Amino acid sequence: MAQDWDIKTRCDVCQGCETPFQDMEPYFSALMRSEDGYVRRDYCAKCWESKNMDSVPYSSWQGTFRFPPPEPEEALKKETAESLLRKLMAEDDKTNINVMYILAVMLERKRMLIEKDVQTREDGIMIRVYEHRRTGETFLVPDPRLQLDKLEEVQNQVITLLGADNRNTAETKNDNETADSTLLTAAISNAGKTAQNPNVS
Ligand SMILES: [Zn+2]
Repeated sequence: MAQDWDIKTRCDVCQGCETPFQDMEPYFSALMRSEDGYVRRDYCAKCWESKNMDSVPYSSWQGTFRFPPPEPEEALKKETAESLLRKLMAEDDKTNINVMYILAVMLERKRMLIEKDVQTREDGIMIRVYEHRRTGETFLVPDPRLQLDKLEEVQNQVITLLGADNRNTAETKNDNETADSTLLTAAISNAGKTAQNPNVS
């Protein structure tokens, strides 16, 4: 497997009986491990209860299917914590692993990502399983267990990455930007607490 992080889209149809999901229908998601990495499958309640699936899940959770509304145009204009996280996760660059984790914690505080599970892989790498509240995508983000002395460096990296792209847009300060800097401070302080007490997560 090339990298430890990944984004998995939600299936539109049940992977057991192939019935399309309806708006507001509860569904059950399962992550499977395969040779090519993680595979996500979504099932209707009936198939989940009858265990109509082809392998044992590595991780599973329940959600409510919603038709994703179209992406608001405003959000596409400038770099946000979300667009930056998506961009970094699409790249095959391990040096961004700390930044990806902090961005994911920021989006969790923003209630855009919901943590569904935490798994420690056989190789000791801790993987946080987030679901995107609006689109239902799964974000698999490795937790680098940041050391306290690394936090300031990561904070500066995030500020640079978010700020550099913001300069390309006409508007300077808006609500999103203010919220992101507040969230960043909160995310860093949270990561600091976890670093101090590695047993508390
Ligand atoms: Zn089904």
